[in-house]
Amino acid sequence: MTFTHTPPTVALQSLIAGQWRDASGEAYTTHYPHDNSTVSVLNAATRDDVDEAVAFAQSARLKPNWAGLKAHERSAILYRIAAGIRSQAEELAQWQRLDNGKPINETRALVASAAGTFQYFAAACETLEDTITPARGDFITMSLHEPLGVVGAITPWNSPIASEAQKIAPALAAGCAVVVKPAEITPRMAIELAKIAQQAGLPDGILSVLAGKGSVVGDQLLRHPLIKRVAFTGSTSVGLAIGKIAAEKLMPTSLELGGKSPTIICADADLDHAVAGVLFGIFSSSGESCIAGSRAFVHRRVYDEFKKRLIAATQTLRVGNPMSERTQMGPLITHSHRQSVEDYVALGLKEGGKILVGGQRPSGPEFDAGSYYLPTIFENLDNQSRTCREEIFGPVLALLPWTHEDELIAQCNDNDYGLAAGIWSQDYKTIWRIGKALQTGTVWVNTYKTFSISTPFGGVKMSGTGREKGRMSIHEYMNQKSYYWGTNDQPLPWSQS
Ligand code: NAP
Ligand code: MG
Repeated sequence: MTFTHTPPTVALQSLIAGQWRDASGEAYTTHYPHDNSTVSVLNAATRDDVDEAVAFAQSARLKPNWAGLKAHERSAILYRIAAGIRSQAEELAQWQRLDNGKPINETRALVASAAGTFQYFAAACETLEDTITPARGDFITMSLHEPLGVVGAITPWNSPIASEAQKIAPALAAGCAVVVKPAEITPRMAIELAKIAQQAGLPDGILSVLAGKGSVVGDQLLRHPLIKRVAFTGSTSVGLAIGKIAAEKLMPTSLELGGKSPTIICADADLDHAVAGVLFGIFSSSGESCIAGSRAFVHRRVYDEFKKRLIAATQTLRVGNPMSERTQMGPLITHSHRQSVEDYVALGLKEGGKILVGGQRPSGPEFDAGSYYLPTIFENLDNQSRTCREEIFGPVLALLPWTHEDELIAQCNDNDYGLAAGIWSQDYKTIWRIGKALQTGTVWVNTYKTFSISTPFGGVKMSGTGREKGRMSIHEYMNQKSYYWGTNDQPLPWSQS
């Protein structure tokens, strides 16, 4: 298959009740952020579509061809899904590029990570063990796990295939049926994953994909009595609303939400590595990343030198066409999202910030139609300013000097979010002390934005609850059930015999 900048528009269908078909809602189109061309046309799902998909999923999951499978048999399907992703890796990467405008090198990495996720959960699925707990009487005690039932997955637009794989793979490994609601504007990856899963032998109805609006499809999924868990990745405002609805039916959720992550540069840091880390941490994915390192705290002793090197490195970043393998930063997702980033830059200036680099759109005909914005660095902002407190979700970094470690830690933690942090230093004791004091779900030391599926991920504070990844996350999709087996005929205290 040859990929061009503006391929013909593709008609997409939803997978509802085991059938590929047009959903019942209105038709809408999705657009390539590079040039705003239409890449797909599809119908939005309705509340009735959700009800139908969930009811079908509930009956499908109880059938012997799913409920009767042993863990190693489910695992075999997951391995085949991983292989299916790998066999179509290039197409998937290109489609994701068209869906959300990320540079091709990045979407290739996301596709590879999705395949790795299915492989990892295939292996975990057949090696997880239930436990026999130490008996404290004349009985054998066991702690077993059984699938929760039908679960929902609601995902954002910034890394579709990876965030969908992180939810679908452990849920299938657990023996659940999954209904996925991808972001309205990036439906394609979930749809392609479902095709691959079908080809891998996943029974009909065990995976459904319903594209459409969060306020309709997502809301209906959340409220449906047969949906037993929802895994959500997205903004803190929507996550809070989801948490409230889930609480009304005592439904467990995982909420992977926003961030305003600090990166700390100590005076003894290897400055070249730290510059590269900060650059990658904030500007890869055009800053549209929950873990974007958007506040860089630089020790005063090295502040000027670091600033000089960072500006120079930022000016060399290659912003441009996502199809090019040379491109490091593509466009933002939509024009309206770019507008919100521009509003934040205007706010930053009003709050006293000084722009060191960027602060505007790139110029040139190749940028005219797309939603491009240049990597932007502020200094002179107060950590209390809104620009430093709120998630911008774009390529905007605030540089902040620090001197005393206790003040540094207080400033890093003085934020509603708590997703991730980076520390650049050569001294293990300093790293350990600071890392322990940071209120975040992840700490990166002399690296940033590196990921492994085997390591749990999630946030604290307003960055969310629950964890994804890690083999034990399969248990998030399972009920824990305790068994007590009497081992003799000893009468119980109230026995009449
Ligand atoms: P979003 O607006 O919160 O949307 C996320 C998903 O929720 C979309 O599928 C959306 O549907 C759906 N949704 C919206 N309103 C809903 C409702 N009332 N009920 C149920 N579902 C609803 O987030 P986004 O703008 O797509 O993505 C950016 C955000 O995601 C950022 O805040 C970022 O930090 C966060 N994020 C977090 C992580 C993490 O792991 N912590 C990873 C990536 C991104 P629509 O398509 O209709 O909007
Ligand atoms: Mg949104």
